[in-house]
Amino acid sequence: MADHYEVLGVSREASSDEIKKAYRKLARQLHPDVNPSEDAAEKFKLVTHAYEVLSDDEKRRRYDMGGEDSMFGGAGGFGGFSDIFETFFGAGGGGRGGRPRSRRERGQDALVRVTLELGDVVFGAHRDLEVDTAVLCETCNGSCCQPGTGPERCEICGGSGHVQRQVRSLLGNVVTSQPCGACQGYGTTIPHPCPTCGGQGRVRSRRTVSVDIPAGVESGLRLQLPGSGEVGPAGGPNGDLYIEVQVTPHPVFSRDGDDLLATLEVSMTDAILGSTTTIEALDGPVDLELRPGVQGGDVLTIKDRGITGLRSGQRGDLRVGVHVVTPTRLDAKERALVEELAKRTKAPAPRLAEFHQGLFSKLRDRFRQG
Ligand SMILES: [Zn+2]
Ligand SMILES: [Zn+2]
Repeated sequence: MADHYEVLGVSREASSDEIKKAYRKLARQLHPDVNPSEDAAEKFKLVTHAYEVLSDDEKRRRYDMGGEDSMFGGAGGFGGFSDIFETFFGAGGGGRGGRPRSRRERGQDALVRVTLELGDVVFGAHRDLEVDTAVLCETCNGSCCQPGTGPERCEICGGSGHVQRQVRSLLGNVVTSQPCGACQGYGTTIPHPCPTCGGQGRVRSRRTVSVDIPAGVESGLRLQLPGSGEVGPAGGPNGDLYIEVQVTPHPVFSRDGDDLLATLEVSMTDAILGSTTTIEALDGPVDLELRPGVQGGDVLTIKDRGITGLRSGQRGDLRVGVHVVTPTRLDAKERALVEELAKRTKAPAPRLAEFHQGLFSKLRDRFRQG
């Protein structure tokens, strides 16, 4: 028996891709459909068998070691041959007959991005979004046909959407089924396409979609609006619309889950004497009381003034970290006052203590990251 590598015209080191390519090329020349001669049929048999062995890693290894190699012997020899035949010539690959395919298909999903301010996230937001999409053609109502006309049964395939073809092979006659080229497998043709949509049953259009974006969303979250995507060909069902949320960073407030975080800068004198103040939260003013002696790093928690939770529906808190601002420019009088204060209070000398990696430093880190 001829050497399989020689039969395929490849080297013994050939890659599986090279072997596949060589077989494909030879099979195209030698296939009984193309070349009806006895000689070609015999060569086709040899070439296909060589490919069967060399395309299978285990069989190739055994062959290289001089192992058993019989034409149709061994487990799966025959089945393997027919698989190879089908791989290259599609015999039986498309199913034998079956129903014609439908013109109606589901429309594609669409994705729209929407940008929100952090303030929108506190309670949720409403948006009217312009979506470039496909909508049902009103002229033909999705039938694809000019009004007053209809689809006709395909004469080539008799409405089945498939054509059968007999292929001679060394295994005998094989019947292959392929989609009908005349009707693209639909089983019908449209002799008078709708002039508005060109026989597609849908037209491109801009559409406004009203969306209620729930509170508590985060950047990257995708909301799904079932059935709000584009309409399918021939009036097929709509795809879905996805809305991807992007939340722009706020210059003051950052977010920790459903809590809002900010820093409150407090003058040294307010920190000493205490103070009442009003701060502007994202949802309006909040009155704050600073106790006398408030420390830098203290965190004031204002309950229920954070973000409304996406799932819980409960509002998080507003947490404000105190940052005491030390004055840097004093006039002579102010300096004299502070010196007097220092003398009276006998302030202790600076003292080393444990490094403080408290909540406030975390707050500031978050703030810096935006
Ligand atoms: Zn139409
Ligand atoms: Zn047809």
